[in-house]
This record gives sequence, C-alpha cells and structure tokens, in this order.
Amino acid sequence: MRLADTPRQADFRAELRAWLAKTLPELPPAPDPADWPGRRAYDLGWQRRLFEAGYAGLNWPRDSGGRGLGPAEHLVFLEETELAGAPYVGACFVGLLHAGPTVAAEGTAGQRARWLPPILRGEEVWCQGFSEPDAGSDLASLRTRAVRDGDAYVVSGSKIWTSHAEVADWCELLVRTDPEAPRHRGISWLAMPMDAPGVTVRPLATLAGTTEFAELFLDEVRIPVGNRVGAENDGWRVTNVTLSFERGTAFASEAVACRRELRQLAALARENGCWEDDALRRRIGALAAEFGALWRLVQWNVSQAAAGEEGARSASAKGGGGRREGVPGPGGSVFKLRFSEARQELYELAADVLGDDSLLLGHPFTAARLQGLSYTIAAGTSQIQRNIVAQRILGLPKGG
Ligand SMILES: Cc1cc2nc3c(=O)[nH]c(=O)nc-3n(C[C@H](O)[C@H](O)[C@H](O)COP(=O)(O)OP(=O)(O)OC[C@H]3O[C@@H](n4cnc5c(N)ncnc54)[C@H](O)[C@@H]3O)c2cc1C
Repeated sequence: MRLADTPRQADFRAELRAWLAKTLPELPPAPDPADWPGRRAYDLGWQRRLFEAGYAGLNWPRDSGGRGLGPAEHLVFLEETELAGAPYVGACFVGLLHAGPTVAAEGTAGQRARWLPPILRGEEVWCQGFSEPDAGSDLASLRTRAVRDGDAYVVSGSKIWTSHAEVADWCELLVRTDPEAPRHRGISWLAMPMDAPGVTVRPLATLAGTTEFAELFLDEVRIPVGNRVGAENDGWRVTNVTLSFERGTAFASEAVACRRELRQLAALARENGCWEDDALRRRIGALAAEFGALWRLVQWNVSQAAAGEEGARSASAKGGGGRREGVPGPGGSVFKLRFSEARQELYELAADVLGDDSLLLGHPFTAARLQGLSYTIAAGTSQIQRNIVAQRILGLPKGG
C-alpha cells in the first residue's frame, strides 16, 4: 500500500481542492437538523452538484454511472471533502455507502442500471430495513416473512431503527423466504419501494430531538421478485457484503471530520484558557494520533479490499468461497470498534473544553456528543465487533 499520492492522485487532489474552494462558499445554509424534508433536499442537492462536477461514484463501475477510478482516488475525495468542511453525506448515507455498493457487487446488470445512477445523480434516497424488535445483534433471527405469490413476494412484519425511513424512496430489506431452513439459510435481500401499499413509517424521536430513524410496519406489501438481489435464501451472504461496506468504509470520512473538529477544539481551548491544562492537552494529542492512525487503517483496509485479499479471506471464512474484489474484509470491524469509541472520547473532551456551554442543546459539539452515544450501537454494537475481531481475525473459538 502506498501512503503518498502518485502524481496522478496529486493532480486529482489539487483539482478537487480548487473545486471545493470555489463551490463551498456558494452553498445555501444547511437546514435545521429536525427538518427532514429540508435535509433530504439539501443532501440530494449536494450529491447532484458532485455528480455534475464528475465527483460522484469515483470508484463505482462505469456501467453503474460511476467513474471507474481506484479506491485511492475515492479516499482522496473523502479526505479532501471532509477537511474542507463539505456537507455530510446525510440522507444519502445508505444509498451511497452500503446499499449502492451491494447492488454494484451483487446485482444483475438490470438492477445496477435501475438503482445505481439515481443514487449517484442525487435523485433517490435509500434506507436500511435490517433490524427488528427481536433481531438486532442476532440479525439472523429476523422474522419478517416473504411469501411467494406469482412474480411477487408478499411481505409482512416490522422493522425498527430504520434511519432516514421518513424520506427514503427505497429500502434494502431483509426478509425470511424459507421459514423451514436453518435460520441463516432462509433469508433474502430485497429492494422495497417505500411508497408501496402496506408500508407504514412511524418516526422515533432521538435524544438529540430529531427523528433520525423510524419503525416500519409492513402489511402484505407486494415486492416484485425481480427486486431480489442475489439468489432466493442466499440473503445472508449478500447481507455480509452490505455489512462489510457499512463497517469497512461507510464511516471513513467521519474519522477525517474528527481530525478537523479536534483542530477546532484545540483552537477553542487556546482561546478559553483550557490549553494550560497539561492533562487536557495530552488528551487532545492522544486523540489526534488516534484519528490519524484510524485513517491509515482505512487506507489499509481499502487497499486490501481492492486487492481482493481480505474479501477473499472473509468470504471463505463465511463459507461463501471465491474472491470478492472490492468488498472490505473483517478489518472494518477493528476500525468501527475503535472509531466509534474515539469519537465519543472526542465529544467528552469537547464538553470539558466548552464547560457550561456544553449544556446548550444548539451547540454543534453538544448535538454531536448526544448523537455520538449511538455510534457504539449502530451498524453493530462494540461487543459484536469484538466478537468478529476475535473469531474472524484472531481465529479464537466461538463462545458457548
Ligand atoms: C443511530 C442508530 C441508527 C440505526 N440505524 C439502523 C438502520 O438504518 N437500519 C437497521 O436495520 N438498523 C439500524 N440500527 C439498529 C442497530 O443495528 C442495532 O441497534 C444494533 O445492531 C443492536 O441491536 P439491538 O438494538 O437489537 O440490541 P441487542 O442485540 O438486543 O443487544 C443488547 C446488548 O447485548 C449485547 N449483545 C447482544 N448479543 C451479544 C453477543 N452475542 N455477544 C456479546 N454481546 C452481545 C449487545 O452488544 C448490546 O450491548 C440503528 C441503531 C442506531 C443506534
């Protein structure tokens, strides 16, 4: 793995940096965090601008509307956009960072042509319907059932913690297509249109006061069989591809955002006198080193995945077999585990620097601190990441 830019990457970085310097000042102010329709419009608008300027789907295949560049250019993109303070991916998170990549890796040509270009053009939002009230960490115990009826599945059940469901057009949905099969073998991965009859979305309020996620109730929803990605009952393998992207690369840019926020925090500490506190300065230094190391870990994970090495190892460990080029391996769990904890430490530090101001709900660091509490739960809890590291990387036996 090269850590320094090649001449081609350096040119790409310079060109992107110039574009960001010109474009970011032209953007309208970000909407209120509680205004989800406003946030959807804003996030899609930013994605559209990226697409029009040629910065969407840099590492997606050309037949999916992407530019077919390598993972190195994608990482340059993530790093430069975050360091420049560009808008967060927001409502486009699931589509761009794990549903889209799953369709690119596992979908048919027709599915790629239908679903991927609208994600890149900033036209459609996806959400993730994996978790159920009794199936979170133990995802394979999911019960939402899909019964085949001609050329459709009739789906009934419920999902929970579905981020962005309120404003989504599509849902990557896990359903049980064979209730008799061993539980990992009877699952299928479907793309469900959120406006299908029988879909009810009930938003849930978070600690930060916004409706980040929702409950989904599915009452005999008809989903065309053609919306199934992967073979019937092979959804567990497809799910692992989705989760590999979610843990391996979806949070990567946020590690860079933490580096930027840490610099803001150091400046604030200098202004308000906290900088004189040796212990606090040491915490800032330790976190700066950690976020730097986490970014290197992302680069390593991505370069391994590009070579197909980790992907191949994890696919065979799951009995999937075959070389899965471009799909991150279990190394993503190391990143997810430590990133989510370090991010929480960052905002604890922010609360110490802000003092009484950290009680103001409207302060960006306070909002981030409240939201950051969920990071050790979302996309698989820290305990589950530790299990994955123990079993799939260290090769330790599974507990009884
Ligand atoms: C902000 C946020 C956004 C989310 N967005 C989505 C989304 O868009 N779509 C979606 O489908 N889901 C989403 N989730 C759900 C998330 O994936 C689950 O909350 C998570 O997987 C944990 O499942 P659970 O809540 O059912 O907890 P449980 O699985 O009930 O776990 C409870 C506790 O037991 C521990 N535990 C459970 N099993 C084990 C084990 N085998 N070994 C050790 N410890 C264990 C867990 O680590 C945890 O501490 C989101 C969650 C959050 C917080």
